[in-house]
Formats: sequence, C-alpha cells, structure tokens
Amino acid sequence: MKEIYRAHENGMPVVGPTYLARAIGVSKSTAHHMLKNMERMGYGRYIERKGFVLNERGMEEARKIMRKHRLLESFLATIFSLSPEKACMEADKIDAYAGDELIEMIEEKYNYECCPCGNEIPK
Ligand SMILES: [Zn+2]
Repeated sequence: MKEIYRAHENGMPVVGPTYLARAIGVSKSTAHHMLKNMERMGYGRYIERKGFVLNERGMEEARKIMRKHRLLESFLATIFSLSPEKACMEADKIDAYAGDELIEMIEEKYNYECCPCGNEIPK
C-alpha cells in the first residue's frame, strides 16, 4: 500500500509486479499475488500486463497508512535523532500496529507537516 501510494505521488498511477517486487524486495510472483490480493480486498483493479490501480477506497486506505508511517518516522527521528532512512526503516516495522490514538497524540504534540525525507504527511 505504501509503495503504491509513493508511486502515485511520483506520478505513477499504475503499479506493476516488477516495480513492486523491486521496491519491497520480493519475487515478481509474490508481488503479483499481493496486487491481486489488493483487488480482492476491494482496494482497486488489477489489469493484466499493466498493473494495479487504486480506487477511491484504496486511495483512502493508502493515505491512512502513509499518514501513520510518516507521523511515526517523524516522531522517531525527533525523539532518537535518527537519520531519515533509519527512521523510515523502524517506522516500517511498527506502523501497521500503531493505534489511532497514538497517531493523534503524535500529531497533536508535534504538528508535523512533512516526514524526515520531506514528503507531505497526508491529512
Ligand atoms: Zn518512510
């Protein structure tokens, strides 16, 4: 979801298995499977030989996940003076588990607008 959102931000609305495989370090068939799964979950459409396109619901979900990820990496970078890469890596391990309440507390206290790499935090 995060990689698809990033691709979207960079002007790439269709994400294929080759791109995704390279971005997250899995095999092409795993990436293909993941994209088909996202379609099954109702987050968009998978067009054979092209790739996956988020629908509105998928976009909403991707924005939510990215918001969590970027608020967490900003927070980790602030608290532990981590480099943007390290903050991103650590946030990747916990963003899926972070509760809404924690995310709101971070947002309220720090009011971040951008993550440590300078990308906008979705509202
Ligand atoms: Zn990150």
